[in-house]
Amino acid sequence: MSDARAVKVLIIGSGPAGYTAAIYAARAALDPVLIEGLQPGGQLTITTEVENWPGDVSVQGPDLMVRMAEQARHVGAELVSDMVTSVDLSKRPFAVACDSGARFLAETLIICTGASARWLGLASETRLRGYGVSACATCDGFFFRGKTVAVVGGGNTAVEEAMFLTNFAQKVHLVHRRGELRADKTNQARLMANPKIELHWHAEVEDVLGESGVEGVRLRDTRDGTLSELKVDGLFVAIGHVPATELFAGQLAMDDEGYIVKAPDSTTTSVKGVFAAGDVTDKQYRQAVTAAGMGCMAALEAERFIAHGVGAHVDVSAAA
Ligand code: NAP
Repeated sequence: MSDARAVKVLIIGSGPAGYTAAIYAARAALDPVLIEGLQPGGQLTITTEVENWPGDVSVQGPDLMVRMAEQARHVGAELVSDMVTSVDLSKRPFAVACDSGARFLAETLIICTGASARWLGLASETRLRGYGVSACATCDGFFFRGKTVAVVGGGNTAVEEAMFLTNFAQKVHLVHRRGELRADKTNQARLMANPKIELHWHAEVEDVLGESGVEGVRLRDTRDGTLSELKVDGLFVAIGHVPATELFAGQLAMDDEGYIVKAPDSTTTSVKGVFAAGDVTDKQYRQAVTAAGMGCMAALEAERFIAHGVGAHVDVSAAA
């Protein structure tokens, strides 16, 4: 890799975690380079109003991400519009190759590749995303005050989102494809005790109805194929998330769902000099503000690692 460019800090991913890491690393005079990936700005670019980002009463997700990018550039980070195609974590500096042919040798790597919501895969769902179809009740629940919504899924996320939505909606339908929930018993008991929630067992969403906004969903009974319709103003899809970790498969410790394992109270991973921040390592909180917090931690830890070497790397086995 003779033509590879040597950098102290290479950040992969451009959500709140990546941009925050870039801001902190740039202000620490580490001249970070951030590779933006296919969707600069990440998941927030597919949301509309964000009302839980501290300091903004209301901000459009895409605008917030543009501002983060501008701030990162302003303090001296280099943002590169490219896709990382391969990473070699077997030795330091880490070799990183991009789609454009650009190559880097990075002393430290901060992985902020995020996760994406798993969707049902319906054309109507894609068309109405941001117009009543959402994968984040925390982000969008507020817009359904006094309305009727449906949540799809049977895991802890779906159950918690359904309960959270009862703070706003007058009625919440929980649609699950089997006759038994995957969510833990405590969550199930709370769900059953909530009078605003109606459960629809053995049901799959076959179509989302409405032209410019959600007006209902068509359900299919998974046992006999019977079709029915539910009139709802919003649909929350909560069937899991998929972390973007394929690039690192076999090179970093991951849990059984593919999330990068990091040490407690740290962003250090199983490879010294490699840090992970944001949704790629977090299935619990998944918020812009928590991702940004982790991005800050990762930059501070990278700075310490560069200054003090491998001894500064917290042992990830403590997380096991
Ligand atoms: P999950 O546990 O994988 O549950 C996904 C749910 O979506 C399952 O009920 C699944 O149905 C359903 N599903 C998947 N694909 C579907 C499809 N194409 N159509 C319809 N339904 C579909 O995901 P999660 O709820 O996001 O949770 C992820 C992890 O985070 C879990 O380990 C969870 O326990 C954890 N978590 C914990 C908490 C907490 O402890 N408070 C909160 C949230 C999440 P089946 O059941 O039929 O497979």
